[in-house]
Amino acid sequence: MGAMHTRIETLDRPTERLAAFYARRAQGEAGMILTGGYSPSPEGVMDEGGLYLDNEEQLVEHKWITSAVNKAGSRIVLQILHAGRYAKVDTCVAPSALSARINVFRPRALTTAEVWGLIKSYARTAELAKRAGYSGVEIMGSEGYLISQFVSGITNRRGDEFGGSYEGRIRFPVEIVKAVKKCVGDDFIVVYRISAIDLIDGGMTGVQVAELARRVETVGADIINTGIGWHESSVPTIAASVPRAAWIAAIRNVKEAVSIPVMASNRINTPGVAEEIIASGAADLVSLARPLLADPDFPKKVRMGIDNEIAPCIACNQACLDMIFTGRTASCLVNPRAGHEVEFPSGKAAVSKRVAVVGGGPAGMAFAITAAERGHKVTLYEATAHLGGQINLARRVPGKSEFNELLLYFKVMLDKFKVTVHLGRTPTVQELKAGNFDETVVASGIVPRKPHISGVDHPKVLSYVDVLGRNMPVGQMVAILGAGGIGFDVAEFLVGDFEESLQTDVFYKAWGVTIDLDTPGGVVAPVKRQPTRAVHMFQRKREPLGKNLGKSTGWILKTKLKEANVIMTPGVSYDRIDDGGLHYTVDGNSHVLGVDNVILCTGQKPQRSFATELLEADMQYHVIGGADHAEELDAVSAIDQATRLAVII
Ligand code: NAP
Ligand code: SF4
Repeated sequence: MGAMHTRIETLDRPTERLAAFYARRAQGEAGMILTGGYSPSPEGVMDEGGLYLDNEEQLVEHKWITSAVNKAGSRIVLQILHAGRYAKVDTCVAPSALSARINVFRPRALTTAEVWGLIKSYARTAELAKRAGYSGVEIMGSEGYLISQFVSGITNRRGDEFGGSYEGRIRFPVEIVKAVKKCVGDDFIVVYRISAIDLIDGGMTGVQVAELARRVETVGADIINTGIGWHESSVPTIAASVPRAAWIAAIRNVKEAVSIPVMASNRINTPGVAEEIIASGAADLVSLARPLLADPDFPKKVRMGIDNEIAPCIACNQACLDMIFTGRTASCLVNPRAGHEVEFPSGKAAVSKRVAVVGGGPAGMAFAITAAERGHKVTLYEATAHLGGQINLARRVPGKSEFNELLLYFKVMLDKFKVTVHLGRTPTVQELKAGNFDETVVASGIVPRKPHISGVDHPKVLSYVDVLGRNMPVGQMVAILGAGGIGFDVAEFLVGDFEESLQTDVFYKAWGVTIDLDTPGGVVAPVKRQPTRAVHMFQRKREPLGKNLGKSTGWILKTKLKEANVIMTPGVSYDRIDDGGLHYTVDGNSHVLGVDNVILCTGQKPQRSFATELLEADMQYHVIGGADHAEELDAVSAIDQATRLAVII
């Protein structure tokens, strides 16, 4: 299991929660678990209150974690990560006093004596980790953190022995590995995580990466793990738009340079992809991070030969990275228990009940599966001919094909736990009464909001469901009203062949990635692609469009749509829609846009008609998902709410 920041440490009872989080992955048979990063000194933490390990008093808490993992039959390795100029604290330090564009704090340059002191701190943290019962340490040398900042000439402008030439710049990681190894001896794993490809202008060339790998091997690293890209890179590295195993060529470059085991990471989310990587000889080990949030039993299920029961990581980042980037705790869209292990009771329900679920979207399916797993007899009714609800729209959007896996998984699990599924009908109230259900759960989803605009019923007006769900023809020039997640998805769908998540070479061209070993950072100019439609997006708010998209993915969408010449207009009031197109006003000036179609992506309202019928019949029921709350609804909150109800019902 690869290292992840979870921010679990910011919750109450942090050590108990961390121990439960890691132990759960150990029970799922992860062979080796890498923790989230611990700084070797307080100024290197990720943010205020972040993790560091520099004194003996902290050992008690760590022993709780290591013994929980060891008891569950696995090994745990502590990652040592100094964030350098990425540390969101006003005391942050770096090789040179150069700010990162992703951090408001400006770093102070370390003195030469401080650099030598820091090397000792890495060794001290490793020694403490050994005493705490960890099986090793991983020295984080990738993703743009302090070690990357030393290695790159862009961020290292030093004139002392830790700067200047390539030799000087790599001295910092080489001395760290040397010092750590000397301190911990041979019976303790030292992993070095190298930046296999920096993905920033002026970053390391492939040749330099290979040389650094050889040097850390020479001074004692036992395993090399690979990281991809710096956090400030403008190339996506783990989002759903990145093809699976996209970075294998860069990882193979490291593998070919050394004789110690090399670990592959990033966008490895199925056993098949992992197997291919190992079989191809590009790496010796695979590190899964987010997939073990989605399903802690991933390795165990592979061993048992039940791969189809693995809850897939769909690389959405919505409940993990986006939570971290907005100061919250990581969890998982697919598995709300992740990071919250101590909050969810496990095991069977005391009494097996008969439960009816009305609605087969994400909330209804997630509820039905968890309730049935707990021993309830569940019957699920879906009004349309297909399970999936809004998943059926999402999976048509370029870069969102992983949603197919989620739908497949839901279907497998409904079957496994013997949920009776009725497609193509909503039950009548009488039928539910006659069925003697102990509990009724309404998960009937949403209806798209139809705004009050003159001419909204004109034939050229379509809803996002017409476009993504019903495949209705769309003209060459369109206006999209509403710029939430769905407006952006529809825009991406309509600009044409911008699907890049399925082919690595297409992705590389679109984002300007090269695996040519002499190109600094592995980046070149992207190849511009031509949109197949002229798309205009509108919203009434005066703020920039896409402000509330996911932190880790919104910039990707905005970059792609900019490249596709999509014109975005905020601060609009809609006047009318007629044969002439869309009439609107901005800052008191009237405009008309002669579009072929106007597409409504103007939010949603709860679909509560069935709940109202139940209310009128004086029946008890629960409402979950969009039917309960449509504003700000997404699959994360729908599945979370459904699962939390299913474990107490
Ligand atoms: P949304 O985010 O609430 O956006 C609705 C849009 O419609 C807003 O731009 C809003 O802007 C506009 N609008 C609202 N009421 C209107 C009215 N009466 N007349 C005209 N315009 C109106 O909803 P959504 O785009 O439908 O997405 C639903 C949920 O799915 C979101 O919570 C989102 O998290 C999730 N989702 C996320 C993603 C993603 O992150 N990539 C993708 C798909 C869906 P103005 O009011 O300013 O005009
Ligand atoms: Fe994967 Fe999305 Fe879950 Fe994160 S939230 S682990 S990206 S499925």
